[in-house]
Amino acid sequence: MDNMNTVIAIDLGGTQIRAAVVNEAGTVLSRARADTPTGQSADVGIAQMIHTTREALAGVSNAKPLAIGLSSPGPIDPRHGILFSTPNIPGWHNVPLAQRMSEAFGLSCFAGNDANLAAVAEWQFGAGRGCTDLVYLTVSTGIGGGVISSGKLIDGKRGLAVEAGHILVALDGPPCGCGSYGCLESFASGTGIARAMEERLATGEASSLTEERGRITARMVVAAMQAGDELAAAVFTRAMRYLGIGCASFINLFDPQKIILGGGVTKAGSALFDIVREVAFKRCMRELREGVEIVPAALRDDVGLLGAAGYAFEHAVNLV
Ligand SMILES: [Zn+2]
Repeated sequence: MDNMNTVIAIDLGGTQIRAAVVNEAGTVLSRARADTPTGQSADVGIAQMIHTTREALAGVSNAKPLAIGLSSPGPIDPRHGILFSTPNIPGWHNVPLAQRMSEAFGLSCFAGNDANLAAVAEWQFGAGRGCTDLVYLTVSTGIGGGVISSGKLIDGKRGLAVEAGHILVALDGPPCGCGSYGCLESFASGTGIARAMEERLATGEASSLTEERGRITARMVVAAMQAGDELAAAVFTRAMRYLGIGCASFINLFDPQKIILGGGVTKAGSALFDIVREVAFKRCMRELREGVEIVPAALRDDVGLLGAAGYAFEHAVNLV
């Protein structure tokens, strides 16, 4: 354990900056965190990132990290480590994050967006260990994801792939935050579930949630379903059938060993996985169905740090 290689992992979030020293086994040896400065320039934020990273480094004696991995809360050019702009940190535009971290610590810095790096985390340290091909989806307020194909993260020409929540599953459909409509996210995310429940309640259908109209959340729909509410069960089932056809498309596209589902909505447990598996396996091509597993994500709070670490280790191999 003592002789293992280490990297610096930085998880830049909209509310918190987390930094850690992580070894090859995915063990966090030291960590530090701070609030993300808001309403200030990117320079202030970068100074805080450097300070927090130094704190994490100070917790390990003789730390000789190979490289830095950085998880970004928004779209980032993975080749140059430039954060475009993100609604999660207003005021940051075209920030050369990787370069600034690299200069501060004298190490190469590899940066990717949080959904892609969460896929890397599950692949290297979580439910996807040993896979060469997997699809990771996080289903919460929205739907994000990442794809590992033939042992490599798919990132696209500008690093913006894979926007898994915005595959189109309907010709019409609810409007989506991306400007389109009929996206998977608009049907199967927590937001989509809540909206569908509101729509059904508005027509006067009977439900234990009638009194909650106007403030429905996905969590309330799941709780009502588990307490026997038929309308809540119908709404949730329909949303998860959309997630199932989304997964069928991902199986057809990527021929994965695993589809890994994380995010708050997956706390519904077997109620979710049973429907998604049934629909996905029924609707994907028969030849591709064999050997695919649809499983819960294994990592929780540290997924951002471990994704950054995994990404750094993956690239650091090319440095030595
Ligand atoms: Zn969309």
